[in-house]
Amino acid sequence: MSKLYIVPTPIGNLEDITLRAIRILKEADFILAEDTRTTGFLLKHLDISTRMFSHHKFNEHSSVDKVAERLKAGETGALVSDAGTPAISDPGYLMVKKCVEEGIEVECLPGPTAFVPALVNSGLPNDRFCFEGFLPQKKGRKTRLELLAEETRTLVFYESPFRLVKTLGQFIEHFGADRKASVSRELSKLHEENKQGTLDELMQYFSSKTVKGEIVVIVEGKSEEKKKKEHKQVKTNSH
Ligand code: SAM
Repeated sequence: MSKLYIVPTPIGNLEDITLRAIRILKEADFILAEDTRTTGFLLKHLDISTRMFSHHKFNEHSSVDKVAERLKAGETGALVSDAGTPAISDPGYLMVKKCVEEGIEVECLPGPTAFVPALVNSGLPNDRFCFEGFLPQKKGRKTRLELLAEETRTLVFYESPFRLVKTLGQFIEHFGADRKASVSRELSKLHEENKQGTLDELMQYFSSKTVKGEIVVIVEGKSEEKKKKEHKQVKTNSH
């Protein structure tokens, strides 16, 4: 039966692939890969020889129609990205949207993604949270940070090691130096590090070293109390 499986792959530790993910990758008629070389290494490690097509941010607009035709003709596909869950700050959304529009069945397998372990390790409230992924690099960054300064839910960001210190500086500027936060680096890998503290403490720690590896930053939301206080202040001032 035709179907598109969204298959999460490890974010570091190769043991983190599920038995079902391995079976689906083996049984699928084709695999759509963000980078056929990266996925090729994984498939070789798993002894899988399913044919691959590339599906990345530069060709996904043109690729979705062709893939939808294959699926409608009865083939089963598996979509993977370089690491973690496809469509989470990775290509995949357009393909899933197309399948939903065309009535093609889609099933996303549960599996690795970087923000869940980072959020849980942070020790910050996770009953409600706001996934922001990568902040805009230039245009719209300041406006986004201004909006997020008022957000009371825990904030989740993906960041590059080269921008971490600059971003922590901008968080201090917009959210305040004493907001609690957590930086998770190299999750599931040999040099995994989870560092918690105030934004100020994290800034001091990371600016004193060369930051390497993949990073998730979790920031406490604005406290409801602070919000209420500010609201009262505005009301008093306007009388
Ligand atoms: N699809 C992936 C997922 O499900 O998490 C995210 C892909 S996005 C292009 C890559 C970003 O995810 C990295 O820049 C980093 O912010 C985060 N990331 C991926 N692997 C990580 C790891 N092992 N440790 C910490 N962060 C990671």
